[in-house]
Amino acid sequence: MFTLIDLPYALTALEGVISAQTLSFHHGKHLQTYVNNLNKLLPGSPYEGLSLEEIVKKADGAIFNNAGQVLNHNLYFTQFKAPREGDTPSGPLAEQINRQFGSFEAFQEEFAAKGAGLFGSGWVWLSAQADGTLVITQETNAGNPLTKGLKPLLTFDVWEHAYYLDWQNRRPDYLKALWSLIDWNEVEKRYGR
Ligand code: MN
Repeated sequence: MFTLIDLPYALTALEGVISAQTLSFHHGKHLQTYVNNLNKLLPGSPYEGLSLEEIVKKADGAIFNNAGQVLNHNLYFTQFKAPREGDTPSGPLAEQINRQFGSFEAFQEEFAAKGAGLFGSGWVWLSAQADGTLVITQETNAGNPLTKGLKPLLTFDVWEHAYYLDWQNRRPDYLKALWSLIDWNEVEKRYGR
């Protein structure tokens, strides 16, 4: 049985970018529903007892959709901390970003453009290949780069439930504001190089 993750910050911690109301619905209602659905679907299926990551790699249909949404949201919510304007990556991740994109700003621009340009509901991801090369991908619905053999590092949720109460139709503004919330120590840990 999977359980709802605890948020590593208070509901009000991300105010100004993500309101307590959005966070409370997004975590307490949307994510809780995906957890509940997954727990209802797993018993008796070939995926019972597997880790979330293994289920996402192997399943399809409703089990994939709900497991993907649980994993995606777990990665999304645990990459934030209270707004700290101007925080940037360091170490091997920063070096790789500069090597491939030219600068952190150029990377941010490309990442946000891919999030803004994703049609409908989905996720924009920064992932790593086995050799450490970085890849930005758009995934629709519950998609996760694990299914492409990539290691997911950073993700922006572009389902409307993630931003509509705070930003209405202004998805590009929400994406731009999210940078101030990113806990780069966590993203660097996921990169693990
Ligand atoms: Mn969401």
